[in-house]
Amino acid sequence: MRATILTLVLLLAGCDVASDADAWRRPASATPDASGLVSLPCDASTPLEPTRPRYCRDDRHWVTPQARAALIDAADAVRSAYPGEVLRFMDASGPDGVKPFPPHLSHGDGRQIDLGLYYTDVQGRPLRAFPAYERHGGYWPAEPPRPGEIVACPQGRVGRAEKPDPPPDRPWRLDEARTRTFLQALIADPRVRRVLIEPHLERRLGLWGHPKLRFAGCQAARHDDHIHVDFH
Ligand SMILES: [Zn+2]
Repeated sequence: MRATILTLVLLLAGCDVASDADAWRRPASATPDASGLVSLPCDASTPLEPTRPRYCRDDRHWVTPQARAALIDAADAVRSAYPGEVLRFMDASGPDGVKPFPPHLSHGDGRQIDLGLYYTDVQGRPLRAFPAYERHGGYWPAEPPRPGEIVACPQGRVGRAEKPDPPPDRPWRLDEARTRTFLQALIADPRVRRVLIEPHLERRLGLWGHPKLRFAGCQAARHDDHIHVDFH
């Protein structure tokens, strides 16, 4: 009997561990919180997903209702062009709506989010899994300038914004077709105010000079390992 009870306790403890590990897979909040913000869906009910569970688990995925609707529409646009594809997000804001939202210079009021780009392997085959570099939580798989492309900050970036180029033998390359599809969906949306991206990608993707695409400057983080979106 004692052995049976012990087994039961262990099984229940195991269940707790499993449910804790999956606790981040929550649906979006139904109504805005006291700051007027809503959470993004983390339960795969839409083609939106975090690059790492911690963006949902640590409540870094709060946005305005309008921004959430725009993000779901952009994710739907990507999925209609590429069946099964998702749109991946990193930091948005916290539920309290306080700006800035460390470590960001902005974020916090629900009108900003960082989004992942799309990648292939070195042979050009789409990478289904996001390149895994836990150290940077989805901010590291940069696509640096190729020889001859614009180098926006030849002297490097200021302080902590500096992040070196990844090595030439990195196992990923930018998936230009998917990234272009996703950017076009965003910049066509009147709810999107602007998108921060590095100049070499803006030009390479054939979107040079679009009024919503901007360079963030050399005091800000590089935007060829993610993009930053500002919503109205
Ligand atoms: Zn950002």
